[in-house]
Amino acid sequence: QEALDRAKRFGHRIAVLFLDLDHFKVVNDSLGHDLGDRLLVAIAERLKVALRPGDTIARFGGDEFVVLCEDLHGQHDAVAIADRVIDAVSGRFSIDETEVFVGVSVGIAFPDDNESDPANLIRDADAAMYRAKEKGRARWEIFDYAMRASAVDRLDIENALRRALERRELRVHYQPLVSLRTGAIEGVEALLRWEHPERGLLLPGDFIAVAEETGLIVSIGLWVLDNACRQVQRWKASHPELPALRLSVNLSGRQLGHPRLVDDVAEILMDTGIDPGSVELEITESVLMDDVDMAEETLGRLRALGVKLVVDDFGTGYSSLAYLRRFPVDLLKVDRSFVDGLGTDPSDSAIVAAIITLAHTLGLEAVAEGVETAHQLDELRRLGCDQAQGFYFARPASGHDIGELLANRPRW
Ligand code: C2E
Ligand code: CA
Ligand code: CA
Repeated sequence: QEALDRAKRFGHRIAVLFLDLDHFKVVNDSLGHDLGDRLLVAIAERLKVALRPGDTIARFGGDEFVVLCEDLHGQHDAVAIADRVIDAVSGRFSIDETEVFVGVSVGIAFPDDNESDPANLIRDADAAMYRAKEKGRARWEIFDYAMRASAVDRLDIENALRRALERRELRVHYQPLVSLRTGAIEGVEALLRWEHPERGLLLPGDFIAVAEETGLIVSIGLWVLDNACRQVQRWKASHPELPALRLSVNLSGRQLGHPRLVDDVAEILMDTGIDPGSVELEITESVLMDDVDMAEETLGRLRALGVKLVVDDFGTGYSSLAYLRRFPVDLLKVDRSFVDGLGTDPSDSAIVAAIITLAHTLGLEAVAEGVETAHQLDELRRLGCDQAQGFYFARPASGHDIGELLANRPRW
């Protein structure tokens, strides 16, 4: 408040920077809280060096810091400070012979003339920091009013989503998974859609984060599993000549942490009469690494039901290979971002090759997602990948449309 008053009186600008460390939890979980604490101290020291003498820095909580910069000439000054902060934190830290790498995401907010409430300023900087995380971390974003609008948007979505299940507005679409050995469809991935009464068909990117944060994903996720199992049974009944299909369903972090998950999954398997061995549950690498002890326990209990487990978006998280070996998983799904440059970007090709080798070395199958060209398909075959999925084969579509596709028995 004092800084805001001074800025008004002397006609200069101020900014609030909201800092949140990237992957700090991984450090804490894997190396211990004692080392985590010392890392925070080391980071605070580097922040001090990166800032100017009159700036104020505070630890806000956990791995969050807030910086107040006064006496700025314009936005560019705040951006220059954010750049220095990111540089300072992005390097290597040596703590007790242990080398640690972290990064930091920064949200920047400036007071506007009508709105000069310190709490709002910090809230805006926090919202901008979230945007920086979403855009890939280790970067800064400046708060703008669209972000406030999207907060309002969120509330709308949350309210409508609460009713979407009972109003039967949710749908499950399916995308084929192709065996690279036979070239035939051997499975499908269930993908959630929302037939919004005003906005039309929404993709998960528009609402899944809200479903996660509110916990609605727990009941929605079970609904998806139940629906998808029933769909597979219907296809089987209408096309008895087709070979058995594998069904992949995504599980969110909130679901994995839910105490009833394993019982609920078991009940759905029973009720729908599906063969548990044909069901694959996909969990993203970053969710698995978030709480490894919990993940290991829950995965073990899920696997005891007879289902298979997939590490989704592999290569984007911070997997410890030691954990990967400990987890009872069956498949690694190479993230789309690496498949993108396959055959054109040498480093992407090298990464995909390495992941496939890693999977096979650990006795797991390798799946590639996001295949869009014949060239990428050729490369994946050459690298010995087991399965692939992508627009090149088929886009996700309704149960009815995929049923027709299955009946045609296409081959690639
Ligand atoms: P994901 O699990 O990685 O799913 C694959 C996403 O890639 C799908 O997006 C799919 O449409 C898209 N995709 C497939 N092939 C291609 C391709 O060749 N090119 C490109 N550019 N994209 C391709 P979608 O359906 O929008 O789903 C996005 C994410 O939402 C999923 O990513 C998954 O993390 C989440 N999601 C979807 N359904 C569910 C669900 O039932 N439960 C939970 N917890 N998450 C879900
Ligand atoms: Ca998936
Ligand atoms: Ca994926």
